[in-house]
Amino acid sequence: MVTEFSRQSPRILELKQHVADLIAAGEVVQRPASVVKELIENSIDSGAGIITAEITTGGMTYIRVTDNGCGIAAEDVKTAFLRHATSKLRDALGLEAIGTLGFRGEALAAIAAVSRIELITREPGIDEGVCLNLEAGDVVNMSPVGCPEGTTIVVRDLFFNTPARLKFMKSDRAEGSAVASVVLRCALSRPDVSIRFIKDGKVEYHTPGDSRVDSCVYSLLGREVEAGFLSAESSDEVVSTQGFVSSQAASRGNRSYQFFFVNGRAIRSLLLQSALEQAYKNTLSAGRFPSCVLYINVRPSDVDVNVHPAKTEIKFISDKSVFDSVYYAAVGALERVDAIGGIIDNDFRSSFVSEPSRLYTSSTRNSQENTVSVSRLPISKKTVFDNPNQTNSELIAFSSELRTPAFRVIGEALNVYIIVEYHNSVWFIDKHAAHERLHFDALKNSDYVPMSESLITPVVCRLGHEEVSVLLENAEFLDKLGFSAERFGEDSIAIRHIPADIEISETESILSEISSQLGNNGIIESSNLDKIYKTIACKAAIKAGRSSDSRELESLAAKVMSGEVANCPHGRPVAFEITKTALDKGFGRI
Ligand code: ADP
Ligand code: MG
Repeated sequence: MVTEFSRQSPRILELKQHVADLIAAGEVVQRPASVVKELIENSIDSGAGIITAEITTGGMTYIRVTDNGCGIAAEDVKTAFLRHATSKLRDALGLEAIGTLGFRGEALAAIAAVSRIELITREPGIDEGVCLNLEAGDVVNMSPVGCPEGTTIVVRDLFFNTPARLKFMKSDRAEGSAVASVVLRCALSRPDVSIRFIKDGKVEYHTPGDSRVDSCVYSLLGREVEAGFLSAESSDEVVSTQGFVSSQAASRGNRSYQFFFVNGRAIRSLLLQSALEQAYKNTLSAGRFPSCVLYINVRPSDVDVNVHPAKTEIKFISDKSVFDSVYYAAVGALERVDAIGGIIDNDFRSSFVSEPSRLYTSSTRNSQENTVSVSRLPISKKTVFDNPNQTNSELIAFSSELRTPAFRVIGEALNVYIIVEYHNSVWFIDKHAAHERLHFDALKNSDYVPMSESLITPVVCRLGHEEVSVLLENAEFLDKLGFSAERFGEDSIAIRHIPADIEISETESILSEISSQLGNNGIIESSNLDKIYKTIACKAAIKAGRSSDSRELESLAAKVMSGEVANCPHGRPVAFEITKTALDKGFGRI
């Protein structure tokens, strides 16, 4: 279609203030969590030692943040809600040396534009406070009020005047979890400030504000995480890094406990993540990740925090010095523990920390209530394939149904390739790729009935608030995959059933991967669905490098030779043919 442009150019007009504010609001205020982040950051900037954040209904109808900071002078309260009004930055030079979390003067204006706000504030030493009410950015009331020193901001009915944005909100539970993770980051960023978070009337976090990182970590992440942390430190003239990194033994199945703070600001950064993980290289098994709470300090002029509207990304002048600082802090921590013999390596750990044992079921989950435990830990996957009474693997007992052409499995080479003679060719089949493809196709089939294993002891996966909510919202989908999940506290889920062919130790990393692909309220994009299926298919597939029994090889070969699979889900070929002619030529026969 060709668009016709009229010859007359459209008039260029300045946007009305409230339209400009709504557009700007969209950048800063995406969901309740972004409001809470901005309000807590303002409270931190105000010098407060005690901050309380409270939400109900995921923050959609009610958010309140109270602090005992410097307050706002009555004559400034209206100005604070104007765009680009800030007390923290005076000129462009100041941008080079920002020491506060805020500086753009955008947040209050942006929040006010899309909600109903009440601000109550009193400066220390001033007799009377002031109360200001705004609706969609317009002041509707301003009056003197008696109140404690400091500031309280209540934000009601977020996005009440932007219905389109309201539609993008997830469930209250998911929004509430996103708020919880924002508060957690803010609280971790400042162990010297006591932060309390109340959700639907219940205190979720309460940090002591005693300036100790360990007590802050303890109150936010729990005893177990705190106990697995080693103190880490490294500094030179340019960068200093301080905090905690996890011992190898305390690794996790995901990265949700990797916290980096640069000059007091919570930052997501691939650079910092890889610096940390590099320190654990070759000491953690695949799918295991270190955790950390690291405070990195650089000269304010050596970073640019102004690259992201929510300021959660950052640019360093010298990536290398920051990388090195984090890397050596972590390496130092691990080596110190090594030197005093305190470290427990992964293998040793797995031998004394008992893995939850699993019950193998011979059919789908629905019928497992009638199933008797076949054996207790440890049962290797091989046992299952070897057990003639089990139909655990979909690869077994199917060949009769297939129009399988005449082929002969010669054997397996290098524990990877199945060698098959077929007509006038020799075929090499990548057993992992083939199995993965079959599993992937099966998952995509709407009639797919998962083969689940029931775990005698549920696996508890600590994934983070947001991840847990998203997963539980999609419980039905998880069920279809063969997982059954139940809430286990705020940031964990207990898994009682897992798909038959996956390793228990991979449960957490698979669920973490699934949660990152899941969408709002059960809506999953098809490309993400494929990613989920690929992950499961890959994890469930028999592994290259491990020997397989002959029935496994036969059944895989039958499926491949019948033309059922051609490529693995990642697009690699599953089978590779060498014709007799090619062989004859190679040997100079023809
Ligand atoms: P910024 O934080 O980028 O300056 P905001 O829009 O978030 O912009 O806030 C505007 C101004 O309002 C701040 O610069 C500060 O002077 C004042 N302010 C906001 N929240 C508080 C608070 N809790 N205590 C004291 N002053 C505050
Ligand atoms: Mg601010």
